[in-house]
Amino acid sequence: MKRPDFLYALGTAALAGMSPAAVRAAVPGGVERTLWLRRAGYGDEVVAPFCVDGATVYEPGYRMICWLMRDRQVPDAEGYVRYDNVEIEALWEVQQTLALHGIRRPLVITSGYRTWQTNVATEGAARNSQHLYAKAADMYVDGVSMRDLFDACWSREVSGGIGYYDDHVHLDSGARRWWVGDLAVPEFA
Ligand SMILES: [Zn+2]
Repeated sequence: MKRPDFLYALGTAALAGMSPAAVRAAVPGGVERTLWLRRAGYGDEVVAPFCVDGATVYEPGYRMICWLMRDRQVPDAEGYVRYDNVEIEALWEVQQTLALHGIRRPLVITSGYRTWQTNVATEGAARNSQHLYAKAADMYVDGVSMRDLFDACWSREVSGGIGYYDDHVHLDSGARRWWVGDLAVPEFA
């Protein structure tokens, strides 16, 4: 399988070793948009300023997000790719919506970028999943029901694909659509 051309094969040590506080301290004034993410199962957490003025990417923070979203099942050089900007904006908007309701907690990412081999090994994953293109995230937020998180995703003016599952919500930057994942629908007797 050909590697995606957006593969981001740079040295990651400096980035990985940078604490959120260190990044914040290094950020110039005027950076507006910050995304707070945690990776489920690993405890990694970033408070990443990724956008300067609503349009210009702030590269150090952006890379922290890409790093957190990497495919953990493969070597970093394969699993660490440039994430779709529209998807990052979407996650930020969801976090802003939650904040408007007084919920200031990280989005806990259960799945970010997936290489094709990880996607094949992921139960229930679509063959052409947006995760393959670094355009999707599976997530939950502590103390927030999946229904409320789904609604926060849906409330965006330009939402992408939203999937409702028992233990996470899928949000991607593809076409606006929604589905219910592994919800068990009782059969008629
Ligand atoms: Zn997903």
